[in-house]
Amino acid sequence: MSEFEKYYPKISNLSTKFLDNPELGFKEYQTSKLIEDEIKSISPSIKVEHYLGTGLKVIFDNHKPKTIGIIAEMDALYQPKHFKANPETGAAHACGHYTQVGIALAMINEIVKAERLKEFGTNLAFIFTPAEEFVDLDWRQEQKAKHKLDYFGGKQEAIKQGLFDHINYCVSVHAIGEEFKQRTVEINCDLAGFNFKYFDFYGEASHAAFAPESGVNAQSIATLFTTALALQRQQIKNPNRIRFNPVVIGENTESINVIPDHVKMGSDLRFFDIKYVQSLMKKFDQAAQGCASALGGKAKITTQVGYLPLHSNREMNALVKDTFLQEDRIPGLIENRGYTMAAGDIGDVGFIMPTIQIGYGGWTGTIHGSDFKLIDPEFVLKIFPEFVFNSTLNISNHLEKIDEYHHTKREYLKALKKMEG
Ligand SMILES: [Zn+2]
Repeated sequence: MSEFEKYYPKISNLSTKFLDNPELGFKEYQTSKLIEDEIKSISPSIKVEHYLGTGLKVIFDNHKPKTIGIIAEMDALYQPKHFKANPETGAAHACGHYTQVGIALAMINEIVKAERLKEFGTNLAFIFTPAEEFVDLDWRQEQKAKHKLDYFGGKQEAIKQGLFDHINYCVSVHAIGEEFKQRTVEINCDLAGFNFKYFDFYGEASHAAFAPESGVNAQSIATLFTTALALQRQQIKNPNRIRFNPVVIGENTESINVIPDHVKMGSDLRFFDIKYVQSLMKKFDQAAQGCASALGGKAKITTQVGYLPLHSNREMNALVKDTFLQEDRIPGLIENRGYTMAAGDIGDVGFIMPTIQIGYGGWTGTIHGSDFKLIDPEFVLKIFPEFVFNSTLNISNHLEKIDEYHHTKREYLKALKKMEG
């Protein structure tokens, strides 16, 4: 019996504990403690490094020049209708991150119990990251105002703190939000980047019946702006690789017989091309200013930087595919979808170094929805961890096949600054 098989009942049990204890990003205290306790139970001599309150890092030094990072996200998202939601916080594991933790722990267990470290051509670093989901934004905004956070993604903050400084390649995994007839993994799938744009339109209030002519209707400006963005779609290069969704946010507290003097709109803007999106953001700003000025009002624009796009490293993926071809317990491989408009802060890691995200099935229901649920735990927590382990091993022994690149932390922070406009 392999160590993955022996460990399965334990990790399956522990994963249920993670599922039953969902915590929002940067607040994964119980989850983090359970992970640390489990690492110590695998081997009390493993050194666990802490960062950002809940983040954990474990290094297996193999006396090699290069290091592969293996990432596991710890956070839940806000989905109060989920069948396992925390009734107080609304947090729920509707994105399956808790199984990423299980997969990483199964790999750590294999390294220790089966003494596998020496087979690797690199060192290994297991990084348990907080806050992948872009949620709980009011709280994060408060932390930002108090200078406790600069960015809303856990990996972004971790990069800023130097957690990825000595790592050369990263392997991450993520649940696929689809139900498959057979056990399935996915490679070669890029993730979009995104930014949040906010547009405050200001007009002049007046009596809507008695003196509408002396007002400036902020809602009319917002309507004009929505139309301008819709017309702008025609001028967009590769429109299938760009998404935006302008919506009015915030409530109108004025009476309906008053010409509204303020309307707040927001839109996310998803993209793959960092340079192109900067020029697109300028066009959006120009449209907002133009629409406000056309009706005699004003516009204030703010940008909240989101995540960078992930260009999943194709050479590393090719090595994962080689591993897949040796693995007869997993029949399904998706390798040609190319991209999804979903996003993650793993994209920020990919900006710095060659990075992949391997998708795994085993789920039913709608990802991020109320019914997202693990239906094939044996695949996800026993077979797939071994597959990721073997893929990482294969990558570590074929580094010459990967075009290595490295952006420094400074270059990364500069790129984010540019995204803020
Ligand atoms: Zn996720």
